[in-house]
This record gives sequence, C-alpha cells and structure tokens, in this order.
Amino acid sequence: MPHIYDPQNIFARILRGEIPNKTVLETKHSLAFHDINPAAPVHVLVICKGPYVTYDHFAAEASAAEIVDFHRAFAQVCAQVGVAAGQGYRAITNAGAHGMQEVPHFHMHILGGQVMGPLIQR
Ligand code: 5GP
Repeated sequence: MPHIYDPQNIFARILRGEIPNKTVLETKHSLAFHDINPAAPVHVLVICKGPYVTYDHFAAEASAAEIVDFHRAFAQVCAQVGVAAGQGYRAITNAGAHGMQEVPHFHMHILGGQVMGPLIQR
C-alpha cells in the first residue's frame, strides 16, 4: 500500500510552527519534544522533519543524511533526558491501524523514568 502523507497532521503543524511544543532537541532533519499526554515520567517523541508516515516509509525513502540524523538525534535525546545509561527506556513506534498510530507522521516514543511493564497486553 502506498504511503500517503497528510500535511495537515498535528506534527506537520508543529514543524511549521503553527502549534507550540516543548523542544528537547532540534537538528537539521529531526525534532524531539515532550509528549503532550505523557505515559511515563519521561515521554519524548523524536520525529523526522520530512514527510514520512511510518518507520518503514522513512527507512525505505528517506535520504541517508535524514536516516543518520534521526538516529543520532534519538541517541542524543536518550542521553539528554538521562535514560541512555543505567536504568534504560522503551522505544516504540506505532504504524497504521494495527499499530494504532494516532499521528500519521513518523515518530519514535522514548519512555522511561519507571519500569515500563510488559511489552504488550495479551
Ligand atoms: P502515536 O499513537 O501516533 O504513536 O502517538 C502520538 C502521540 O502524540 C501520543 O502519545 C500523543 O499524546 C502525542 N500528541 C498528540 N498531539 C500532540 C501535540 O499536539 N503535542 C505533543 N507534544 N504531543 C502530541
């Protein structure tokens, strides 16, 4: 199925500066900010700036520069919010209907500051 990007999604609006965010890190190709409805003491979203819907879309079509930038930003955010070394974190990316993705713009959740529990409910 083709990935159709909706430029009116909420993260596109954040990137255009139409909606404020609590920025943790901004790089050339990526932005990280605190989730508006945190599910843990640490809940940061790392998003790409390019128009990609899901991780597989990003991984397939983003440039090498965008892919490297995103992952380096991810690592820097983990260090900055204090989850990189020591107690750890959970990284989640939701995709599509089965992944229950709410915002159709590729992003990674970094969750930590507590034990995160089982991976999924059965
Ligand atoms: P998804 O289900 O798409 O993986 O998660 C989307 C996340 O974006 C949710 O955790 C939700 O709380 C967060 N979110 C939705 N709208 C906003 C917003 O306007 N600002 C911020 N900072 N987070 C948002």
